[in-house]
Amino acid sequence: MRPLEEVINHTLANVTRLPEVQTPLGEAGGLYLAGPTLVKSPIPPFDNTAVDGYAIRLDAGLTRTSTVLHVIGTVAAGDDPSELVVNPGEAIRIMTGAPIPPGTDAVVMVEDTTSEGDAVRIHRLPQAGENIRRAGSDIPAGQYVFGAGTKITPAVRGVLASLGATDVTTFARPTIGVISTGDELSDAEILAPGKIHDSNRPALLDSVAALGAVAVDLGNVGDDPEAIRYAFETAVETCDALITSGGVSVGDFDYTKAVLRELSDNQITWFQVAIKPAKPFAFGRVGDTPVFGLPGNPVSALVSFELFVRPSILQMLGAKQLFRPTLQARTTVTLDHKPDGKLHLIRGLVEQDGVGGLRVTPQGQQGSHVLTGLAQSNAFILLPDGAQVPSGEGVEVLLIGSLDAETFSPPGSPHTEDGQR
Ligand code: AMP
Ligand code: MG
Repeated sequence: MRPLEEVINHTLANVTRLPEVQTPLGEAGGLYLAGPTLVKSPIPPFDNTAVDGYAIRLDAGLTRTSTVLHVIGTVAAGDDPSELVVNPGEAIRIMTGAPIPPGTDAVVMVEDTTSEGDAVRIHRLPQAGENIRRAGSDIPAGQYVFGAGTKITPAVRGVLASLGATDVTTFARPTIGVISTGDELSDAEILAPGKIHDSNRPALLDSVAALGAVAVDLGNVGDDPEAIRYAFETAVETCDALITSGGVSVGDFDYTKAVLRELSDNQITWFQVAIKPAKPFAFGRVGDTPVFGLPGNPVSALVSFELFVRPSILQMLGAKQLFRPTLQARTTVTLDHKPDGKLHLIRGLVEQDGVGGLRVTPQGQQGSHVLTGLAQSNAFILLPDGAQVPSGEGVEVLLIGSLDAETFSPPGSPHTEDGQR
């Protein structure tokens, strides 16, 4: 058996980032920037008010705490007040985001005033510059923002849009094919005896899409070496990478690894990884195309995806951060397993414990066919070989989902008719 880290490193060493492309900003969400962006004009582009209120001239010698000023006009967001002249003793009604009129040097919040006809009584004089958002206070002109490998999140896209960017230089979006193998897999609604529905392909397609890559559904292929060869050969022609599941074990009809070995001129390595689940894993290149041969058991397939495929796809996308975070959490049950030379990845739910820490609870049976346990989990508890961790003690967890556990609701609390829980 090979250590997990060695297999991850081997995989990443054989996967390359895709080339740079110009991408319309509207299509760039979830991609990664190829380099920093030059800020040509400042953000915000002009001095503007942070509050609704009155723009005033402090230089007109206003010192008393209660002052009445004559209101000579209104400036709304989007107006151009550059022609306005504000004399001593005058104020301008101004709305959040509106440009600061020339000559005014502070804005009084409307809450600190009383309107008196065409005048305004000011109860508290602001400091010079108070409530003014200066041009360039977010990003000055001439600066660069966002280094290579920055993910275009909604906020990053917002910043790029505020800079006026219409196209951005990103790394290309990889196309990832997903094929399932196995004579038992059926698309029929009513299953014939011995057949099962394919769960790996849908789960893997969504896993790929969640990373920002293009997931291509290449269907199922039976346990027939000729059919598998044809399906794989066609797939590597059209995809930047291929994910297969099933047929990498030591069963009599496990043809995937044999076909991959043949197609790749023996460049495919079949690993026995020192982990549980997901011990068997085949990886290599067919031509230039990386191929990931995942095990067929549904939990194993997704664990293998998490550990080997996810970082690889992120590397193809040009991401800087390839790995999920690991955290410490207190286990709510005692964890142990017989020494077997493997790192155990126990599917668990990590939650905030209400006193500033995290707790983790294993979910469901831990068999590699029990996908519901994984569906209820947001983490893998990383239990080293032979380790025994008493309830209440800290363990290392690999966070694979979000902490708000928004995805899972137990069947004991069905949604009521009005949609509320
Ligand atoms: P294999 O790795 O091909 O030996 O398959 C191991 C186990 O996973 C068997 O019980 C298969 O029926 C099951 N399996 C394989 N592929 C899938 C799939 N796409 N969806 C659901 N179960 C699968
Ligand atoms: Mg099979």
